[in-house]
Amino acid sequence: MKNVDPTRLAIDGGTPVRTKPLPWELPGAHWMGKEELGLVSRVVKAKSPFRFYGPDLQHMVDTLEKEFARKLGRKYALAVSCATAGLHVALGAMGIGPGDEVLLPGFLWVSCISAVVRLGAIPRMVDIDETFCMDPQDLERKITPRSRAVLLVHMSGAPGAVDRIAEICRQRGLKLVEDCAQSAGAKFKGKYTGSFGDVGVFSFQLNKNMSSGEGGMIVTDDERLFKRCFALHDLGYARNEQGRLDFSDPNYQLWGVGARMGELAGAVALGQFRKLDRIVGSMRKSKWAIRRQLAKVPGLKFRNILDPKGDSSPFLIMLFDEPDLARRFTKAVQAEGIVGVPGSAVCLHTEQFGLHWYYNNVSLVNRASISRDGWPWTHPANAFALDYNYNRGALPKCDELSERGCLLSIASKLTAKDVADIVAAVKKVAAKLLPA
Ligand SMILES: *Cc1c(COP(=O)(O)O)cnc(C)c1O
Repeated sequence: MKNVDPTRLAIDGGTPVRTKPLPWELPGAHWMGKEELGLVSRVVKAKSPFRFYGPDLQHMVDTLEKEFARKLGRKYALAVSCATAGLHVALGAMGIGPGDEVLLPGFLWVSCISAVVRLGAIPRMVDIDETFCMDPQDLERKITPRSRAVLLVHMSGAPGAVDRIAEICRQRGLKLVEDCAQSAGAKFKGKYTGSFGDVGVFSFQLNKNMSSGEGGMIVTDDERLFKRCFALHDLGYARNEQGRLDFSDPNYQLWGVGARMGELAGAVALGQFRKLDRIVGSMRKSKWAIRRQLAKVPGLKFRNILDPKGDSSPFLIMLFDEPDLARRFTKAVQAEGIVGVPGSAVCLHTEQFGLHWYYNNVSLVNRASISRDGWPWTHPANAFALDYNYNRGALPKCDELSERGCLLSIASKLTAKDVADIVAAVKKVAAKLLPA
């Protein structure tokens, strides 16, 4: 018996729009090839995988830093082993510690929170708006005399009201750190993310817009901050022209975390960085082709993207009025074949985002400590934060958006057929499930 009703949803026994899995959403990985191989093999042939000295140093990390800083229009760039370490180093370089609080959006990544807590400071949560980034109005409400810095996270590839937030930070005397782990290559009104704050931090982990497996970058215009970042990311000290430790300057006699980038990661990251515009351009083209074709679907809403031209576009987020509808919609779209290979996350309900939502970070909710005395929560200078709430319920907009969305990952190499299938699947499901 043939199924003759093409509008019957696959979840109800109809024929799915497609059966072939979509590509895994690892933006940079799909673009790795002979450029990265060529650069890596130079490092291996030169037997010089350490960035500061070696028999025939190829200066991969140096070159990456120079090109990165130039593209962003920043004075300094420092490559690090990952963004988790980079955030810790950047906040440490600002002297953040006990008695200070850092304002964070409720939609973020665990690394943002751990950077604050491991320095002995207190995370203070700020709600988000429909940009899925920090809400500037809630930020203004949450600032207290303890606030020292704002850690702004450009989530899911596109910034929120970064200009407004930078202005608030200036007016209120707060440092601004941009977490650009998910937004390499993204812009806001013509300016790259990572060029608005005192410091920007990038990640080159496998899920990010460019990747060397592990890696990251810190950018700033402030020389003292850069030098402190340098010392902290290494062994606590400066280095001289020969790449050897230099203990002479009392300003840079600190404690390091050992988060240097090696030349092998540097070589891969350099190859990737030179392709970043093409990787991002490809995602942007696919994502906005999908969004344009879905724009008039009755009842379908989207995450608010303030500057579509600057969106680095690794994700598309759809919004629904009710959590149950969002759940049913997600399942129905998946059933139409909008899924990836095992291990990938092509189509998700937003509540499946794990540690991206503050309330899923059990170490935060339970005020976990790595030391026996409960530091930093028990530090007398942090007594002001005893009644801070990290449980679900603390940020109403965040809680609501975490239940009302469906996220599509936009792979960096989608074919025209892939794009057409995604559009067809969403339209087919919308016609059945959404109110006309
Ligand atoms: C991935 C990510 C990080 C951490 O990056 P690593 O390089 O894996 O340490 C930090 N913040 C955000 C928003 C991220 O998405």
